[in-house]
Amino acid sequence: MEKETEHTPSLEALIQFHGHLCGGLAFAARVCEKATNELGVQCNHGNDLRAVIETTDACGIDAVQVISGCTSGKGNLTILDYGKHAYTFINRRNGEAVRILRHRDFDLERIDPVVAKLRKTVFSGEATEEERMTFDLRMLKVADVILSMPEEELFTVQRFKTEVFKKTKAFEQAECARCGEMVAVNRLNDKDGERLCIPCSEKRV
Ligand SMILES: [Zn+2]
Ligand SMILES: [Zn+2]
Repeated sequence: MEKETEHTPSLEALIQFHGHLCGGLAFAARVCEKATNELGVQCNHGNDLRAVIETTDACGIDAVQVISGCTSGKGNLTILDYGKHAYTFINRRNGEAVRILRHRDFDLERIDPVVAKLRKTVFSGEATEEERMTFDLRMLKVADVILSMPEEELFTVQRFKTEVFKKTKAFEQAECARCGEMVAVNRLNDKDGERLCIPCSEKRV
């Protein structure tokens, strides 16, 4: 078997977390590298950063969590279902922000048309063992191409300044008037004079 390309320790940790190296992971690793350099924020810490990802459908979400340290659990990662490969990072100390959007001409088809074609079969679950193996092997090469591609072919970068966000976690809880379960107070809705949890307030009675 061919010798694998050497990766940085953070990329190794990421592959371990995500389970494989793929194009989406490689792309987001480049995004994180760019963002943390632009904002002058230390990687792998996340305390000074806040991230917003505008797609729910991307291996790259894992890359953001491992490399930038912005995670769902910590509450400094927001994932929006806009279907855009856009990643925003905000320095929470000074409000400096960067939005990195995948280049409109970025195309898997151009990097490896075989992988682009196989992807549909593999994701539909209908690929043969052989197709799957070919896909995995070629995907590794795609990832390496992305890791060394010139940045201007990968994404466009927009700098801006925004307000500094404070951490907003609701620790206070209160009871839902209908189901009686305890709920974070900022998730209770007033409905006809009753304070209800989201599922109860959406139920039509
Ligand atoms: Zn992946
Ligand atoms: Zn309820």
